[in-house]
Amino acid sequence: MDVSLDEAKAAICALIDDHAPSLVALSHDIWEHPELAYEEHYAVARICRFFRDAGIHAAPGAYGLDTAFEIRAGHVGPNVVVCCEYDALPDLGGPGPHGAAHACGHNIIGAAGAGAGLALAVLAEELGGRVTILGTPAEEGGGGKIRLLRAGAFQDADVAMMIHPEPGDVAWVPYLASGYLDVVMRGRSAHASSSPWKGVNALDALVLGYTGVMALRATFQPDQKVAGIITNGGNRPNVIPEVASATFQVRARTFARLQQLRERVEACFMGAAAQAGAVCELQWRDGYKDLVSNRPLARAYQANAQGLGRRFVDPRRVPVEVAGSTDMGNVSYEVPSIHPVISMCPLSVAGHSREFVNHARSPAADAAVVDGAKAMAMTGIDVWLSVELLDAVRADFRTQV
Ligand SMILES: [Zn+2]
Ligand SMILES: [Zn+2]
Repeated sequence: MDVSLDEAKAAICALIDDHAPSLVALSHDIWEHPELAYEEHYAVARICRFFRDAGIHAAPGAYGLDTAFEIRAGHVGPNVVVCCEYDALPDLGGPGPHGAAHACGHNIIGAAGAGAGLALAVLAEELGGRVTILGTPAEEGGGGKIRLLRAGAFQDADVAMMIHPEPGDVAWVPYLASGYLDVVMRGRSAHASSSPWKGVNALDALVLGYTGVMALRATFQPDQKVAGIITNGGNRPNVIPEVASATFQVRARTFARLQQLRERVEACFMGAAAQAGAVCELQWRDGYKDLVSNRPLARAYQANAQGLGRRFVDPRRVPVEVAGSTDMGNVSYEVPSIHPVISMCPLSVAGHSREFVNHARSPAADAAVVDGAKAMAMTGIDVWLSVELLDAVRADFRTQV
């Protein structure tokens, strides 16, 4: 094939421009129909319809997950996996179940991924590359990508990529390793007025542990975070609660640092149980791994996005304090991956907020869909056509993971 990199990139951007109105409509439609983790039936059907309208076979369901999907194109060459997220968050006063709304802008991720994926699929045979468009459900706490990893969805991937809307364009930002702690305190019930001395108050024990963790927070380093909710605090005020429970999420820059934090948080609840005479059960669940951003691939993405007029913030200027977690972290330990963030709202807007919901369907969000699609598609072309880049990507992966 005698197509230069520049020609191929111009062609793929023109393709995405042709589809720009339907990509923006796709983003808006997903935004208007927010769905929670593993229930994203509308979004998946809608994205599959977008592909079928463009003449590419697509159907909901993949690897045993109803709200995943997989579309493949090309027969030879490096396999570029483009991840589409589309789940929303509850309790935001939105139109979805449990007040769900797109407070993390995953409608933008889904539409941008569809745009990049479609354009790469159209050119795959001609340019001698392969693309897999992967619908990855339940990023918000459900770990859809972890299930897809286990099922083999990334087995023959050479690289994996997605974008995430944020206040600025940055080629890589820190994402933290996370874990969940389920706490159950067990005491003894008794009448709260006539015989409280016969009881052991499980809620009091849990609250002691909670305040212990909050006090501990004052000694954390900037990457160490803990947040928790009480999931059961008893049923009636006139009964001393026999059982109380809580779920905490703990995060740190690396898995090793997470381990240190876990031990300190555990000690708070064990100590509280001892103080109150209660019995404490602690159950850890794995969260997400920290994100290992592939540097050569991220630089290629940045160069492509800069070519579209986007201005980037130096990653060294992004403090670890602002980091969250993503299941793309788990992917990044298996496959060279990027998860650049793309500008969509002012710096003052908090993620997972009602304000973020409004920005996720705005002219800036629409621009992020189209630019994100183009920058990822051009980076896919770099992977297909530049042996030097793929070598550098693999070398970086070996040194980082
Ligand atoms: Zn998100
Ligand atoms: Zn989120």
